[in-house]
Amino acid sequence: MSLIVQKFGGSSVADAKRVFNVAGIVTDTYKEGNDVIVVVSAQGDTTDDLIEKANEINPHASKREMDMLLSSGEQISASLLAMAIEKLGLPVVSMTGWQAGITTDSNHSSARIRKINPERIKNEIDQKRIVIVTGFQGTSKYDNITTLGRGGSDTSAVALAAACHADLCEIYTDVDGVYTTDPRIVPEAKKLDEITFDEMLELASLGANVLHNRSVEMAKKYNVNLCVRSSLTRAEGTVVKEVVNMEKMMVRGVAKDCDVARISLVGIEDTPGKAFRIFSLLAKHNINVDIILQSIGRNNKKDISFTVSQTKIDEVVDLIKSNKDNIGFEDFSYTTAVSKVSIVGAGMVTNPGVAAKMFEALYEAQINIHMIATSEIKVSVLIDEGCEQKAVKVLHDKFELAL
Ligand code: ADP
Ligand code: ASP
Ligand code: MG
Repeated sequence: MSLIVQKFGGSSVADAKRVFNVAGIVTDTYKEGNDVIVVVSAQGDTTDDLIEKANEINPHASKREMDMLLSSGEQISASLLAMAIEKLGLPVVSMTGWQAGITTDSNHSSARIRKINPERIKNEIDQKRIVIVTGFQGTSKYDNITTLGRGGSDTSAVALAAACHADLCEIYTDVDGVYTTDPRIVPEAKKLDEITFDEMLELASLGANVLHNRSVEMAKKYNVNLCVRSSLTRAEGTVVKEVVNMEKMMVRGVAKDCDVARISLVGIEDTPGKAFRIFSLLAKHNINVDIILQSIGRNNKKDISFTVSQTKIDEVVDLIKSNKDNIGFEDFSYTTAVSKVSIVGAGMVTNPGVAAKMFEALYEAQINIHMIATSEIKVSVLIDEGCEQKAVKVLHDKFELAL
């Protein structure tokens, strides 16, 4: 007998028929003699619809009230799934994040899980009940409801698997595993049988939303047995683990991210401490900076460009404007008309020439590169918005990922 955590995404519980389909998967697992903890997302586009509703009332609503609103979507699917399982005649109980003992920090809209007290869940499991938990949420130490960021139900599932020492954490979604790239963009993309935590973490952080990046981080930290599979086909999924067979694969996957904005500060005095001033200011305001590019100094002046999430651009522009004298620059500009495309693969470290091959493919497609960032297992480029799908396709081709 095993303890299995099963997470179902929004499309898997989108309507009554899908809810019963999920109830079937869960109850089959239970009937095989396993204990089951289920984590659900909000149905279909519920979260987007709730955001729209909020915007009609107040586009500048506080993050606390947004979390109060958005967390309700998961409560609907948890209770509906429990009702379906009740109808199938099996013992079940649904819980909110708070009832499940999930405590987070107070960073509304992208809170991090701090602690899980699994006592209540264990109690229910001991009484042989199937436990359903709302994904995407917890409560802060002030008892406010928090949410974990878009796609955060994956993280709820992995965190519960770690806290309850589950034998397996299954992420059920609308594709049957992790592919070499988003199969919606490249239909020939190939399903991967296995992928390393590190590669998956990069892909997820670089825009492959099939898994929430923090869920992968947590699975690696607590060595959770993690797999991604489809709720509709029951085919074998993708196993995410520490070490996999490298074969000849230099590049494991390609990802794109359209949520990027670039800011450039021009004519900064070429003296020590300028980068420190800019980036400590942003850090103080909890703004994550991604790619950074600094030009070499000319005539005692240099330029610095960097990228942030588009959701932060207004805040960054305000900060830069109000700190112009403190930082000291001549001019600044920004754009949201950029995207980031990345290649990821643990095999890159030992294979020189991967970046050159990437740039060749982009050159052949006449795609201009604005910025470049590399690590041991990834190369990212910033390109014009609108070119990202073409870039993903040509890179997928160049590295022969469909073969
Ligand atoms: P869920 O609602 O189940 O959480 P998501 O929409 O968050 O589902 O994630 C699944 C989607 O992720 C897929 O439909 C697919 O379009 C997208 N995706 C992006 N990159 C990849 C990839 N490399 N492999 C598989 N799916 C990917
Ligand atoms: N419902 C939330 C979202 O749409 C969380 C999730 O689906 O994981 O982002
Ligand atoms: Mg998701």
